[in-house]
Amino acid sequence: MVNAEKLSIARGQLGPKCAMCGDPMIFGEALVIDSEYYCQSCYEKITGAVSSSEPKEVAGLRMD
Ligand SMILES: [Zn+2]
Repeated sequence: MVNAEKLSIARGQLGPKCAMCGDPMIFGEALVIDSEYYCQSCYEKITGAVSSSEPKEVAGLRMD
């Protein structure tokens, strides 16, 4: 299941941290690949999937 070190409190809810950029998320917005949680932007980088509502191009990782 979920490793406690990967959990965070985002917006008052217990949730996972993105396995790539470390951003805190709530479970409702986390995307799962191979049992790891990713935020949407990292998920799109990994899968190549592009949200039709956000046609912008993403260059590099958001590491802030
Ligand atoms: Zn991420």
